[in-house]
Amino acid sequence: MLMILLGPPGVGKGAIARKLKEAYAFEIFSTGELLRQEIRDNTPLGQMVKPLVTQGKLVPDDLMINLVKERLMARRNLVLEGFPRNVAQAEALQGILEDHGLTLDGVLNFSAPEAVLKDRIRQRRICTGCSAVYHLVNCPPAVEGVCNHCGSPLSKRADDDEVFLQARLDRYLTSSAPLLNYYRETGLLKEIDAEVPLLDVYYQVLASNVKFTQESF
Ligand code: ATP
Ligand code: MG
Repeated sequence: MLMILLGPPGVGKGAIARKLKEAYAFEIFSTGELLRQEIRDNTPLGQMVKPLVTQGKLVPDDLMINLVKERLMARRNLVLEGFPRNVAQAEALQGILEDHGLTLDGVLNFSAPEAVLKDRIRQRRICTGCSAVYHLVNCPPAVEGVCNHCGSPLSKRADDDEVFLQARLDRYLTSSAPLLNYYRETGLLKEIDAEVPLLDVYYQVLASNVKFTQESF
């Protein structure tokens, strides 16, 4: 089973991917997480993309496409998050999937009003150790500033800074509109209302594909 999660920054794709991983042993392939890890590890790739990622700007398509080609393995249950971001990446992905003998089962488009996205991004905190994600109001850590899972300090993502916020949201809308049309034409696109609480979003995701309720995928 291979799913793509689409949606603007802060909409909750990562949170849903983690729930699918817990419940159905999905592997998460998140290009944002992958790049942030490269930056933390200070690898040559991390050094190259750091100025872009930390300001919420997009990494060039050729670099992203090569990275996905290199790292995307044929896995049984896979959630792709953060890729593709535009039609060029979607077309490249199609070729990569064919090379691995994989077919796409669904593309979920998460949406929420801009004010909700801004609130989620402003209140988002990330564990510096294990990358767990918190929202200071909706999903706060038990001890302020400390990760529930590993005890490491929490911090804000550099790109979640107020100065980059509007440009990031605007950039998403511009690059993703044609992408949504692209997947709408394939008949695989399902709309998910992500304004509601996380569990309600999750139920919509489960209801979106009949395969979730069969154990056979
Ligand atoms: P979210 O808030 O859900 O994490 P986001 O779009 O702000 O969404 P990520 O998906 O985590 O953040 O991506 C973080 C950054 O990594 C992007 O701003 C961009 O610099 C880079 N990036 C990730 N995926 C891609 C991609 N497919 N193409 C280009 N750049 C990408
Ligand atoms: Mg994310």
